[in-house]
This record gives sequence, C-alpha cells and structure tokens, in this order.
Amino acid sequence: MLEAGSALAEALPGFRPRAEQLAMAEAVAEALAERGRLVVEAGTGTGKTFAYLIPALYSGAKVIVSTGTRNLQDQLFHRDLPLVGKALGRPVRIALLKGRANYLCRHRLALELGSPELPGFERSRKRALGRIALWAEGTVAGDIAELESVPDNDPVWLAATSTRDNCLGQDCPEFRGCHVVRARREAQAADLVIVNHHLLLADMALREEGFGELLPGAEAVILDEAHQFPEVAAQFFGTRVGSRAVLGLVRDAELELTRAGLLDATVRAALAEIEALVVNLQRVLGGLGERVDWPRLPDAALEGAADLEQALAAFAARCEEPALEVPAVRQCGRRAADAGARLHEVLNADPALGLRWAESTMRAFTFEFTPFEVAERLRAQVDARPCAWIYTSATLAVGEEFAHYTRRVGAEDARTLQIASPFDFETQARLYLPSGMPDPSDRNYTEAVVEAALPLLRAAGGRAFMLFTSHRALGEGARLLRESMREDDLFPLLVQGDMPRDALLKRFRELGNAVLLGTSSFWEGVDVRGRALSLVVIDKLPFASPDDPLLKARLEGLKRAGRNGFSEHQVPQAVLALKQGVGRLIRDPRDFGVVMIADPRLRSRGYGRTFIASLPPMTRVDSVEEAADFLRHHLAMDYADSE
Ligand code: SF4
Repeated sequence: MLEAGSALAEALPGFRPRAEQLAMAEAVAEALAERGRLVVEAGTGTGKTFAYLIPALYSGAKVIVSTGTRNLQDQLFHRDLPLVGKALGRPVRIALLKGRANYLCRHRLALELGSPELPGFERSRKRALGRIALWAEGTVAGDIAELESVPDNDPVWLAATSTRDNCLGQDCPEFRGCHVVRARREAQAADLVIVNHHLLLADMALREEGFGELLPGAEAVILDEAHQFPEVAAQFFGTRVGSRAVLGLVRDAELELTRAGLLDATVRAALAEIEALVVNLQRVLGGLGERVDWPRLPDAALEGAADLEQALAAFAARCEEPALEVPAVRQCGRRAADAGARLHEVLNADPALGLRWAESTMRAFTFEFTPFEVAERLRAQVDARPCAWIYTSATLAVGEEFAHYTRRVGAEDARTLQIASPFDFETQARLYLPSGMPDPSDRNYTEAVVEAALPLLRAAGGRAFMLFTSHRALGEGARLLRESMREDDLFPLLVQGDMPRDALLKRFRELGNAVLLGTSSFWEGVDVRGRALSLVVIDKLPFASPDDPLLKARLEGLKRAGRNGFSEHQVPQAVLALKQGVGRLIRDPRDFGVVMIADPRLRSRGYGRTFIASLPPMTRVDSVEEAADFLRHHLAMDYADSE
C-alpha cells in the first residue's frame, strides 16, 4: 500500500514512496500485533497519518485515533480515511465522535424555546435561536458545525447543547432521538473511531462525558499530535468550578421548576441566595486581575466560596424532597451537588498534591486545582487496558531523548523510535542566528529583532512568518515593522487579530508575498507549501510564561521530588515548541528557506546546544548576506522553474 504503483499511490495524487513512512508503518504494525506501546517521532514529510492508518485498518483491530486539534480530525475523517478505504477496496466503518458540546440537545432547545423571554435578550440571539430551531427539524447527525449561519462559538449554543452536568440521560424525554446518544452508538459500532484527547481521557477515567464504553472494546489507541496530550491531561485531572456553570444551573433550575409548576417562594429564595453569593464573589474577585494564586486570595473570597458551597449543598438536598420528584429537577439537584463537591475539593485540596488558584475577569470567575503529577494516573489507566498504545507527533524527542515525554505520560517502558524527515534540510534550509543581539529582557529587544529581520524580509520579498512569544512583542513588532518599511517594500503585513486565524492563513496563501505576524497559535498546525513561505523569523526561545498555573504546578511538583524543573521541564518544553515553530518552513521536498532565530541565548547559554541539536539539520550561516543570498538565489530559480 505504501509502495509505488499501489492502490493508495493511484488514489493519492502526488504520492511518493518513502523509506521513512515504511519504517514507521512497520513499527506501528508490530506494536498492533503485540498489543505493545510505541512512541514515535516522525519528522515533517514522513506521511505519518498513512503510516498508522494503513497498518491499523489492515490489522482488523478496533482502533481509536485521538487527535489534539479539530483540523486533524476533519482531515482524517473527510480526506485520509475515505482515501485509504477506497484503496483497500472494502468499506471501512469509521466514526468521528466529538465532545457533547458539538451536538444539538433537543431537550434544552425545547426548554429554551418554551421559556418566557428574559428582559435584555438581543434580537440577534432570537434570530440565531430561530435558525437553530429550523435546522433542528431536519438534521440527522445534529452536529452544530452543519449550521454555518450560527458559528459554533456563539454563546446561543449554550442553550441548545448539553453538558455533562445538565444532560438528563435516560430520564430525558428526548432520549430516543438524542444526537449525543446516536453519535456514541455509531462510534461503538465503527472499526475506527476518531476522538480528541479530552474525550479519550474522559473515556479512560470513566467519566460520563466520555461514557466509558469506547475503550473497553478497543484493541488499539493511536494518539496523533501526542505532544499535546500531557497538557490536556494536566487540565483534565484538575478540578474546576466557575461562576458561569453555577449561574447556568440557577437559570436551568428556574426553567425546569417553572415548567413543572414547582417554583415556590422557598425554592426561589434558595436559588436567589446562590445567585447573590456568585455576584458577591464576582465583586470580590473581579478587581484582582486574571490569575490569583491561592495565598493571595482575600478572606472575603474564601468565606464567600465556603458559603456558596453550603448554599449549593442545601439546594441539592432540597431537590431530593418528595414534592420535587421530577427527573429534570432532580438533575438540577445533582448538578448543584456536583458543583458544591468540586468547590469543596478545591477549597480543601492538599497543597502538597497540587496547585490552587482563582481566575477572574470582570464577568466571570473560576476556582481551580491542578495536580502536580498526572503521569501516575495516566499509567494506571493505560496499564488497565491491554491494547496497543501508540503515541506519535513531529515533536516528541529532545535531541534523541524521549525520556521527557515518556515520563510525563507514564509510558517509560514504551519502545521509542525517531524517524528523521525525508526532506533534505541541509540543502533546502539555512539557519541564521544574528550576532550582537541584546538580551531578550532588554527594552529594545523587539526593535533589534525587526532590524535584524528586515534585510531578509526584503530579500524574500515578504513571504515570511514572524513568530513571537508574547502578544506584547507581537503588537510592538507589528508597529515597528510598519514604521520601518520603505516605499519600495511592497509586501503586505497580516497581523494576528486582524481577522480569524484561518482567514488570515487563507489570505497569506492567496497573496503569495505577505508577512504574517503571529503568536503561539501559528507555531504549530500550519501548513503553507511553496515559496509563499520562504522565511521564518522567531523572536525568542519559547519558554512558557512563568505565570502559567499549569507550569507552576509542574515545577513545584518536580521541586518537591528533588528534581530540577528548569532542565527537566522548561528547557525540554521550549525545545519541543521551537521544533514546532521551525517546522513551519519546509513542508515539501521542493520548499526552501531560511529560519532566523534572534534569541542570543542559543549561543550564550549552555542549554542553547540542546535546542540546536534538536532542530532539523539545516546548514548554519553566520552572516545576513549569506542568508539573504540564499533566499534571492532560490527565489530566482523558483521563478525560472515556473516560467
Ligand atoms: S439525553 Fe441529554 S443530550 Fe440528549 S437530548 Fe436529553 S438532555 Fe439533551
């Protein structure tokens, strides 16, 4: 299937047989046959999706493929798997299972449509609800992405989708026609199911959201974009309770109680008390800034949270009274009990086991707890399931070492395999590290980055990504670049935030000579082939912000274990992120270009060597002229070729 002249080669335009792809496919086939564990880093251009899909489908095993992003899910479901199915010459039952927030909830929509209009409802919301109601009459799958006229991030969907908390399950009057239930049934019947990491974790942990019924039947789990898995797991195993969920519960309870004719004065008072406590907490937390470490929380916040816990528990108990024996009301009671229990968990968490903080904006707040270590829990879940576990991504190793990754996911005993990219980086790419750069903490640092990049931007005639590590630097970089551009600099600038990410990328491809300035969301998952992207400029080494609570929790956990958080976690994480950013440049055997990394720490600090050793083997150039010549030369050749 992966050789020249095969059915897949026929079905796939531009297919080339690659030794790297075959090597990976063989390793995957072996892991599948042995129900083993494999961690495989496959450099760009390996063709890793086919390298696991083909052995997976040949094996006849029931397989779960988990991805980090929706883009990859869509690519697998709509493009890659139909191609493989066609090439195999037999139908393959595949299913794409999304989180429940992606499916219409008929019960909640009916509730919303039947409820009295609240004051302050905007007309746009009413219009959107009308569209949803119309679509709901005809949809089969109930996937909210079908209704393009209401974007999936429109808050109106909260009223027409369910959460683990508010779903009535078997007590629901719409259970028979429920889209969530239907999607899950289809997933169970499929040979290959595509999910995301969050859903996989929910299933592993037997949480209702994941319904715990996929994994028991699976013979193989393949995690693509596996570099994102530890971070998703850290979030998943944490505990979180927020004002939005509690206020949503109050509103739903009012609706359900009104519908059942049970909203008497005492229940109304109980709900009003919960609402008042949330509003009061919002007042206390609202002015404290985005993230507040637990020790900095004022007593009023802790007392308010404890009162809220009690009020939720009291309402939950109330819902158990025989007079309120209505399934939907009971469900609200369970939600209140659950929110109260989570709040209790955060308020009483053992500080030796994790980190607590509050996050607040002017409109909402959450209390959160993140455990220091999730590897043990992951290992326990994986050990409990005797199926093949395959983790793959273009960035898992630091140098040639996988220990950083395997330790984080509790897979130290897995076989590891590093497959180099089939691209000829030495010939296709140059790595340029400008000399004389100030320290990254210097106030004029971004100015120096822009100055150093300009000759290359001119040599490439635009055709560049400028990747920044912070929004502040992005804004400053965009301003400085605009100011420094001359009249003969004809390249257009596209700046993150000017339009949605996908629209920006589309524009970048269409223009063919643009300079795109972006932060983290452009460092990975972006594929621009051809000369439209010939230069990648990176301002700093992408160390995570020290304020990130997940990072803080991880570092604290390592410190408590007597280990060095900087060398064992921060450096490897930044190495993986840098590999992702650099990986944007060469996406095709005909691509060429220059990567400029401005950060002087690559040369001046000992850890700089670890970064360089982890990058693809690009030829180093030390002068800006050499880098600019390389760009000019290749662009001229490229033009000549295309003429
Ligand atoms: S079972 Fe849950 S998700 Fe399905 S319609 Fe009912 S409440 Fe909504």
